Amino acid sequence: MTQLVHDFETGGMEQKDLLGGKGANLAEMTRLGLPVPPGFTITTDACRAYLATGSVPDGLFAEVDAHLARLEERVGRRLGDPDDPLLVSVRSGAKFSMPGMMETVLDIGLGDASVEGLARHTGSPRFAWDSYRRLVQMYGRTVLGVEGDRFEDAIEAAKRAKGVAADVDLDADDLRNLVAGFRAVVEEDAGRPFPQDPREQLRGAVVAVFDSWNSDRAALYRRRERIPADLGTAVNVQVMVFGNRGPDSGSGVAFTRDPATGAAGGYGDYLADAQGEDVVAGVRNTLSLDELERLHPGPHAELLDIMRRLESHYRDMCDIEFTVEQGRLWMLQTRVGKRTAEAAFRIATDLVDEGVISEEEALGRVTGDQLAQLMFPHFDLHADRTLLATGMSASPGAAVGEAVFDSGTAVSRAAAGRPVILVRRETTPDDLHGMVAAAGILTSRGGKTSHAAVVARGMGRTCVCGAETLEVDVRARRFTTHDGTVIEEGDVLSIDGSTGEVFAGEVPVRPSPIVRWFEGTTAAEDGGPVVAAVDRLMRVADRHRRMSVRANADNAADAARARRFGAEGIGLCRTEHMFLGERRELVERLILTDTPEERQEVFDELLPLQRADFVEILTAMDGLPVTVRLLDPPLHEFLPDLTDLSVRVAVAEATGQPHDKESRLLLAVQRLHEQNPMLGLRGVRLGIAIPGLFQMQARAILEAAAVVTGRGGAALPQIMVPLVGAVEELRAIRSEIDAAAHEARVAHGVHLDHRVGTMIELPRAALTAGAIAEAADFFSFGTNDLTQTTWGFSRDDVESSFFSRYMEAGILGVSPFETIDRDGVGRLVRIGTEEGRRTRPDLEVGVCGEHGGDPESVCWFDECGLDYVSCSPFRVPVARLEAGRATVLRERAGRGRGRTHDGPGLPEAGPGPS
Ligand code: ADP
Ligand code: MG
Ligand code: MG
Repeated sequence: MTQLVHDFETGGMEQKDLLGGKGANLAEMTRLGLPVPPGFTITTDACRAYLATGSVPDGLFAEVDAHLARLEERVGRRLGDPDDPLLVSVRSGAKFSMPGMMETVLDIGLGDASVEGLARHTGSPRFAWDSYRRLVQMYGRTVLGVEGDRFEDAIEAAKRAKGVAADVDLDADDLRNLVAGFRAVVEEDAGRPFPQDPREQLRGAVVAVFDSWNSDRAALYRRRERIPADLGTAVNVQVMVFGNRGPDSGSGVAFTRDPATGAAGGYGDYLADAQGEDVVAGVRNTLSLDELERLHPGPHAELLDIMRRLESHYRDMCDIEFTVEQGRLWMLQTRVGKRTAEAAFRIATDLVDEGVISEEEALGRVTGDQLAQLMFPHFDLHADRTLLATGMSASPGAAVGEAVFDSGTAVSRAAAGRPVILVRRETTPDDLHGMVAAAGILTSRGGKTSHAAVVARGMGRTCVCGAETLEVDVRARRFTTHDGTVIEEGDVLSIDGSTGEVFAGEVPVRPSPIVRWFEGTTAAEDGGPVVAAVDRLMRVADRHRRMSVRANADNAADAARARRFGAEGIGLCRTEHMFLGERRELVERLILTDTPEERQEVFDELLPLQRADFVEILTAMDGLPVTVRLLDPPLHEFLPDLTDLSVRVAVAEATGQPHDKESRLLLAVQRLHEQNPMLGLRGVRLGIAIPGLFQMQARAILEAAAVVTGRGGAALPQIMVPLVGAVEELRAIRSEIDAAAHEARVAHGVHLDHRVGTMIELPRAALTAGAIAEAADFFSFGTNDLTQTTWGFSRDDVESSFFSRYMEAGILGVSPFETIDRDGVGRLVRIGTEEGRRTRPDLEVGVCGEHGGDPESVCWFDECGLDYVSCSPFRVPVARLEAGRATVLRERAGRGRGRTHDGPGLPEAGPGPS
């Protein structure tokens, strides 16, 4: 029979699967010889067996009793002993911490008889009754499901009756009365009395922990975070130590470094005469570690020493829970601590300097998401600010604008040049135009997967959601904060999408120091510790990464910026904008002509214009590869709107004005109208339907290259044909391009290397990549369209309508447009790459969808063996960092040095309770 219960003495931190995170770390601290109250862990195996069968596995409680007996012997006290009772805590702890799991129950073992014994033995009736009332309250709420407010209300009533403010001002008699009140509440609400038998308490709590694995909140969290549903949780049973034994006791939390800035030196909060979560619950003001030193020099020195030992043992910043009982220090929890983006970079490089970790390991400890956060502009921390509320950081950035309460007002004020913050209780698809117009979005309801959050992230709009203390009254066009401050329509607000903070008035915005450094306006030496840390880790990433990074840029200014951010080429230069503005008229003519001669006239006019555009971009990139995509969108996008045009024609007809051209245009618009433009006449289909169009573009590109080369520069154009689904399409276009190249070579008398490739953005293209590679020098995965066509999702439609539903229901963990869907779209990328290279081993393969700048997706592309990723200029540093991490992490895993390190970015350190 497998052992289902392990003493802390026998486990270790490598056993998170079996003992859960909390249990494994308690065992590790015990192994290190730290002062940990003894206890044992019931394994996840036991939980899984319970979940599978619906009943506690045979022998589990016998095993628990055996371990309990040893514990009793060790500490010389017995559970339920009326003279000197042993008390324990029951603490859930899965491999990944998650919300919705049962909260810890402290002081298990107390009853009417033993509370008196505890009072006598400790000489403190107040302490004994305080512990008892905590037990009834916690047990009632978490195990018996009693409404927590009923207990809180009773405590408030007791304090009011006595005319005191703090919990510590209630004396033993008050607490005795509270216990009686609490027990009545339990009986009434749960329909049964609070159990007096300590073993029944213990067993009830253990089973309640098992059951909490399947609570709605936990199940939903797991679906969203893609945590397997069958891991189960461990349960820790631990001897109680008491921070609530009077003024020489207390409980605290600490970090081995500052989790906000990363600065070295311990950092913590301590609350005297307090137990459990009191210290973080804000019941009274807490003390700093320095103040703890004055109060308890001995335990303080010991704590600092332990913090140093934990750091060097875990080789990272740790967070800690501790308790002081009558001047004696006890350790109750530790793990690698959560930190801000700033702190992550700083701690990682500091640990390198301290000789604790290698530079490669440091790179693995920061993430592209953290770098992205550091690149957003932020509010001036030194400015006067009035905090109105804190909600959830749904979409990063710092936005300032007038509060407006409906989308119509948002659109009209924004059109008048006044930035607005759209404030709603929550948003719906009807708010889309207001969200587009707003500088930022603030809601009082909904979480990070609410409509507002999902759509704002999709658009890159700053958003704070779920600021629940705000009472939003859309009809009265105002909101009220928890302290009664009223903000009316037109009042200025500042919202911080990276922290979730909402401020009154205009808070000055500062550009990110990291961006200023990338831009070259600050030197690394002058940027302070965070810039220095980023600089250093970027170098490590660049040194290691296998993939190169290009940018998506359509003009010379973006191209230049992309180079400053480290782009090594352009992976996607769109040509649509070259058909807009004054040139739109040429497109109209192109569509209206019937003869090849007239068409050629239009091409002859377009050619020099396009050539000039390409000369600029090729010059800016100076010999680095520039991938130009031939015209992609349906032509009607360049024509007037159908309704507008119909009206114009009708008015002209009615008033007898000439309208011959308008009428022809109207016919063309009607002819080109499509039910599903995304799946219609676009991409390579346009090139085939309008002979000469792609040839003209290719000529413009190649002649531009000739011009640049002729001036003594270097040019490396790559001509990319969009939306190919069959090799025959590419062949047809390729022969036109090759002919154009020949002409350009003859005309300019220069040697030109030209490469022709295709975007892989249709499932059929990926599935027939082996054949397509016969006609392609390179592939570039257009993962936006590939996602749309693989899922059958029209991005603009689905993100603003049902996506938030899908996420709330856990059907999608993250939008497949943000992070590549590995199993579907990602698999097509892999198939396309492998089969393309089978035909042509030197096939260059990249990706140019927005996924190229998404951290998780970059790792996937590295795994698929892509040569480069391309993304918007602003994301280039993120992609460089992630490409470096991908290599380093893969190599470390390959070397079998996959020592488990639950650093930031891994689920355990993710959101969830502490
Ligand atoms: P969470 O996972 O929510 O942090 P914990 O199991 O850490 O829950 O427990 C909640 C609080 O109770 C923490 O402050 C913890 O330090 C405290 N606590 C847990 N077990 C004991 C114990 N045996 N003695 C004293 N305090 C304890
Ligand atoms: Mg496309
Ligand atoms: Mg804890």
